[in-house]
Amino acid sequence: MSEKEMVSVHLAVKEVLGRARCLGTENVPIHAALGRVIAEDLVTTTDLPPWDNSAMDGYAVRYTDLKGASRISPAVLKIVDVQPAGRLSKKTVEAGTAIKIMTGSVLPIGADAIVKVEDTLLEGDQVKVFKPVARMEHVRPRAEEIKKGEKVLTAGMVLHPSEIGMIAVLGHPTACVYRRSTVAILATGSELIEPGSEKSPGQIFNSNSYSLAAQVSETGAIPCVLGISNDTKSDLLQCLNQGLKEDILLVSGGISLGDYDLVKQAFDEIGVQKVFWRVAMKPGQPLFFGVLREKLIFGLPGNPVSTMVTFEEFVRPALLKMMGHQVIHRPLVQACLDREVVKPLGKTAFLRAVVQEREGKLIVHPTDEQGSGMLLSMVKANGLIVIEENQEKVSAGEIVAVHLLEKPLVSLSR
Ligand code: AMP
Ligand code: MG
Repeated sequence: MSEKEMVSVHLAVKEVLGRARCLGTENVPIHAALGRVIAEDLVTTTDLPPWDNSAMDGYAVRYTDLKGASRISPAVLKIVDVQPAGRLSKKTVEAGTAIKIMTGSVLPIGADAIVKVEDTLLEGDQVKVFKPVARMEHVRPRAEEIKKGEKVLTAGMVLHPSEIGMIAVLGHPTACVYRRSTVAILATGSELIEPGSEKSPGQIFNSNSYSLAAQVSETGAIPCVLGISNDTKSDLLQCLNQGLKEDILLVSGGISLGDYDLVKQAFDEIGVQKVFWRVAMKPGQPLFFGVLREKLIFGLPGNPVSTMVTFEEFVRPALLKMMGHQVIHRPLVQACLDREVVKPLGKTAFLRAVVQEREGKLIVHPTDEQGSGMLLSMVKANGLIVIEENQEKVSAGEIVAVHLLEKPLVSLSR
């Protein structure tokens, strides 16, 4: 295939996202819903709070009884009951009386204000109150937070701890969320062995399966690691068929032009329909994308940085879309480049870089290593500088776009 037949990054992203369909929904216990996307609006069926209640530990009173009360001339009220949170008193607060009350407890009948315990002195079955109160003071009125019928959570929202708490506040033990995508991960290469094994000359440790599984987990999807396939058609076919049980299949390596790069042929044999092969980008050019029975099939390049970058730019947004997310791309920020970079014309470059915040401005420094096999560049980076196809050189001091990765910004201000 000629250079001309490569697809642009923009088109490739569009092709992938156009085929990434939202998965179904499921009900999960609220404690398992963190990070999931809620699939339906949540509307309250009651007011919140459902009744007027005390905002303080103190006494439920009639505010008119306390007019003119002071330290020198306190109001004296008879305590007719004690009402902890969760219990309703059968007594009424009549003129000249009070009910001792705890925070969160329902405002008793007859009472129209709460006196803080700090402003009182208990003497037997009486309480001395040293300060007047306004009507409804220290009372949390019914429906002050949410009115019955109000929409509290909207379908498509990501469930953070606060949203999880809110679902519980409304009394739901479960949440209806989008299903987590399952992702089969296959490493290919006869030179690969698993970490922990004894290495023979020429062998290297399989790292792609692990970086990919971690990237998948970071999106909230479920990785299913299939291990290593040798560069033989029979081994590949057997492993690929196993991988087709999941929603997405990621194969790393064997997708380029080498004699033992057989993944494309194997895809062909199992009936994968090619959407594109080779993207005008660096790193990551030999990326393959196809579909088989609605399943998305990626042949990711084997070089460890290319594997991670192509996951970031193509697989991650697709996975997030499938799991109901509306924000599917990494934050794209503008930062000042601190040294000149040169890149091949006609390819979008994704340079591993360190983004730093200095006195309110973002400065970005490409890591020294930029080889597509040098995973250290990803270890150091917290962002990917994106330089468009038609640019060949960017000078120091120019503003560039940077995709922020999961790692925090480095701050130089502190
Ligand atoms: P390939 O595309 O299969 O020719 O692989 C390109 C480069 O990436 C080669 O140097 C491979 O040894 C290396 N590579 C491929 N797969 C992996 C893997 N799973 N872990 C680490 N390196 C890999
Ligand atoms: Mg290989």
